[in-house]
Amino acid sequence: MEKHYYQKEIETMPVEDIKKLQSEKLVKQVRHVYDNVPYYRNLMDEKGVKPEDIHGIEDLHKLPFLTKADLRDAYPYGLLAKPLSECVRIHSTSGTTGRRVVAFYTQNDVDLWEDCCARAIVAAGCGKEDVCQVAYGYGLFTGGAGLHGGSHKVGSLTLPMSSGNTERQIQFMMDLNATLLCCTPSYAAYISESLKEQGYKPEDIPLKAGIFGAEPWTEEMRHQIEETLGIKAYDIYGLTETSGPGVSFECEEQTGMHINEDHFLAEIIDPDTGEVLPEGEKGELVFTALDKEAFPLLRYRTRDICVLSRKKCSCGRTFIKMAKPMGRTDDMLIIRGVNVFPSQIETVLLNEGYQPNYQIIVDRVNNNDTFEINVEMNPEQFTDKVSEILAMEKSLANAMKTMLGINPAIHLVAPKSITRSEGKAVRVVDKRKLI
Ligand code: ADP
Ligand code: ZN
Repeated sequence: MEKHYYQKEIETMPVEDIKKLQSEKLVKQVRHVYDNVPYYRNLMDEKGVKPEDIHGIEDLHKLPFLTKADLRDAYPYGLLAKPLSECVRIHSTSGTTGRRVVAFYTQNDVDLWEDCCARAIVAAGCGKEDVCQVAYGYGLFTGGAGLHGGSHKVGSLTLPMSSGNTERQIQFMMDLNATLLCCTPSYAAYISESLKEQGYKPEDIPLKAGIFGAEPWTEEMRHQIEETLGIKAYDIYGLTETSGPGVSFECEEQTGMHINEDHFLAEIIDPDTGEVLPEGEKGELVFTALDKEAFPLLRYRTRDICVLSRKKCSCGRTFIKMAKPMGRTDDMLIIRGVNVFPSQIETVLLNEGYQPNYQIIVDRVNNNDTFEINVEMNPEQFTDKVSEILAMEKSLANAMKTMLGINPAIHLVAPKSITRSEGKAVRVVDKRKLI
């Protein structure tokens, strides 16, 4: 099969050359930040590091980390490295964890970001002949703008739908023969559920691929979306602080996302000690933006937990791959002393034949954590016989216990009673006031 790349010479560059390029860019970027961002200069001074101590990527560990707390401290202009007159765009995080930060872009920053998204679109097998339906939210959120820009760069016919209005999404998808759908995986699941309800079979749907990201999703959810829509579903990752989606993207192998290493230098650290971990170990992902001009974060702690791998990829790309992030350090629930990730719960649900429509409710009563999961029944599973429901709840609770090590109270609820997400799904309601 002929391989397609958006920027072949970069995406298939020998690893040694990538590292050399990263070293050169890092030296320049550290100088740029030190000279233009007093906030980071102070952090470097406190740590006793000067730009001349950084000769290449081997010196990266000498630099201080930046955290979301720093971004809040420095809000809104404190990490800006270019005059505002040279900036052309502002985006903001979704505020999933309750705290918004803003990021600035020069025209060059926008261009490079759109290139990253274009690489993702081509890696998903799409190009000039495709109709790209962008159903990520447009606005301050980076999802819509990023994929929209990437689609233009590739030359696909862009359908700028934004999120929401699912009826119209479906009408335009069918009438205008959309071949690529870009949105959050939870919205893709919602759209596919609606298509199924309207009687569409996978072979009636013109889509051939989907690029889904901006929130964690499981392999089980991928299979379900792929089957219902009759497509290949590719993952894409990014965060506002590093431009947006497109920091990494999946290729045809679908075994992890290639990080755009010409622009982003990735590390995995131990989230407790800050120690850099060797390749293959699980830890917190840290990014250094090598080319960003307006908002160039160095050693930014994402709080996303994942693993990197340099294993050779059959697609020919040489960029390092990151596994699907299993959640954020601040997504992880500690319930009765046990670490629980929503992604584990989703895996069990899909394996047991349920849809990914659920909500986790944690509370504390008399100093004990309570742990409940509301799970929606499919129309086929729906019954009003109490004994049947109790048996299903018990069986699901047992499967959860095996995966998590603790026993949740399962409540099966009627089909359609859990609100669908058009953007990032809210899976957890933690009522404990622990802080
Ligand atoms: P917020 O932090 O408010 O959600 P962003 O919209 O910038 O703001 O979201 C970035 C975060 O979204 C990432 O740090 C990560 O936790 C999550 N994310 C993005 N893409 C993926 C993906 N493909 N898989 C899992 N999580 C993702
Ligand atoms: Zn690959």
